[in-house]
Amino acid sequence: MSTAPAKFTLLGTGTSSGVPVIGCDCVTCRSDDPRDRRLRCGALLEFTCGSGERRAVLFDVPPDHREQSLRIGLARCDGILLTHAHVDHVFGLDEVRRYNAIMRRPIPVYGDEPTWEQLERVYSHILFRDRNVNASFVADLVPHRVRHGDTVDLHGLRATAFTLWHGKLPILGWRIEGPSHDPLFPLAYCTDVNRIPEESRPHLQGVRTLVLDMLRPRPHDTHFTCEQAIAAAREIGADRTVFVHMTHDIRHAEFDPRLPVGMRLGFDGLTLP
Ligand SMILES: [Zn+2]
Ligand SMILES: [Zn+2]
Ligand SMILES: [Zn+2]
Repeated sequence: MSTAPAKFTLLGTGTSSGVPVIGCDCVTCRSDDPRDRRLRCGALLEFTCGSGERRAVLFDVPPDHREQSLRIGLARCDGILLTHAHVDHVFGLDEVRRYNAIMRRPIPVYGDEPTWEQLERVYSHILFRDRNVNASFVADLVPHRVRHGDTVDLHGLRATAFTLWHGKLPILGWRIEGPSHDPLFPLAYCTDVNRIPEESRPHLQGVRTLVLDMLRPRPHDTHFTCEQAIAAAREIGADRTVFVHMTHDIRHAEFDPRLPVGMRLGFDGLTLP
């Protein structure tokens, strides 16, 4: 049986517009540093399950998913954990039909009730496929409605959904428990947040890898600023924190070296450990 350690990859680290921003000629958007080219936010967790099979679980499926998948040669998907139904997090869902075709099995997808309400509206061709005029090649998903606080089993990994506030919208953060000898775990994926409620604190306790929203220096109604993100990361105290969802206000080479010890800016393709 393979004992390869789990591997976590940031597939996209940009805000909803992506970076560079269409039509912008600021210094970040003109940068030739590949770390300043940010596709929309998503991530991949690869691990070996109890039966020895190598598994691949996605966090969100942004509109750039096809490009992200091709970049790393991803050819499977064993599950999808959704945070919320904003366009920049779910508009790549059509693309996962390729994994269905390769693996010949449906993909379990986990999201909260408001997320599924939105997805049923936008993806009726997937979720109510019997209503399609022509039988067409659409993704084969198994929807799972999770409540905030629920824990689901993902091929032996335990994933717990907890509440993050994204402006007025409660969305899901995910805590992943893996083998205790693997320094990646527990891992928490916390994108699109400007407030972590008190009742979610226990879910962030003892986290060794933290992925956290950091939009830009200026205040925003639904995302952490740089200062707020650093303060939240300090309070959580993970061994290492990686920031995501940055705008073009943040240039990697200028900003990353100024972050406190144990914290860094994410970039597309960054793998942990
Ligand atoms: Zn977003
Ligand atoms: Zn720009
Ligand atoms: Zn959002």
